[in-house]
Amino acid sequence: MSWSLYCPKCGWEGGSEDYYPFCPKCGSPLELKGTIPVPPKPILGEGNTPLVEDERGVAYKLEYLNPTGSFKDRGTSYSLYLAKQLGYKCVVVDSSGNTALSVAGYAGILGLKARVHVPASASKGKIALLKFMGAEVVIHPTRELAAEAARREIQECFYVAHATSPIFLKGIESLGRELAGEASDRTIFVPASSGTLLIGVYRGLVSQGVEPRIVAVQSPAAASLANRVKVLERLGSKSRLLDALVVKNPPRIEEMVEAATLGVVIVGDEYASVAWRRLAERGFIVEPSSATVLVASDALGEARPLLILTGSGLKYHDRMAEEIEAK
Ligand SMILES: [Zn+2]
Repeated sequence: MSWSLYCPKCGWEGGSEDYYPFCPKCGSPLELKGTIPVPPKPILGEGNTPLVEDERGVAYKLEYLNPTGSFKDRGTSYSLYLAKQLGYKCVVVDSSGNTALSVAGYAGILGLKARVHVPASASKGKIALLKFMGAEVVIHPTRELAAEAARREIQECFYVAHATSPIFLKGIESLGRELAGEASDRTIFVPASSGTLLIGVYRGLVSQGVEPRIVAVQSPAAASLANRVKVLERLGSKSRLLDALVVKNPPRIEEMVEAATLGVVIVGDEYASVAWRRLAERGFIVEPSSATVLVASDALGEARPLLILTGSGLKYHDRMAEEIEAK
């Protein structure tokens, strides 16, 4: 079994089993040639999440039930398993949310040291949780400075670059494969920010011979697909609540365009907050960004939607309190 990475943009090719988080020549996302070693079984119980259907025929894929509370565990498990195989002792990531928590968890069980660069704007609760999980947390004034600090450490540590690394994406494809049986007669609604989830679901379905019917859902502040694919609906204008849908210039935008086969729906706080509450009242404790898919499928009057519920709401007590106050 051997593998290598290459850059579709500039033609750079890496050596056999050399890991790079992004193209060392032009900075673009990389693609994978060959077969990487993957976890022979779930490391912390990631993947194979429940799919439930309500009385209206709406199907929900409960990705927020992954071990650290988000779909990111699929990509992190593949990434850190490879890091371990390659002999790395530490992993580094810049993130203020789900990716950081996921890296902390998988580093812990695999015996790797985790260093997490976060912006000062990150929630206190998440920083406390990261520390509690044993990660070394470095706080920076801005998101950009956190990213720069992480990139300075890629010589010594395995950098989990979830938006540009094909290894992370490979892990997300497992979600697409799991949905293949359902996807033949359902339209799949996927929140799209960095694009990893959208592209992973698309590639996983295609690998199973399914022609994907996918609607991407984005926030007004980070509607990168708006001028690239058909805008099916636009609801609301605010994005404060949608803190997982913030990537304005995703590096894999071309692949995202290909994956959003039916188009994009843009959903703002005004609508997402209502749907967030509605989901919670029915027992789906998800993060606000996850609620956008319910708004989108209702707006399109979709008869048999499949909604991907991406992240757990248990990290959002503060926001819930604000919502109750506002009522
Ligand atoms: Zn390149």
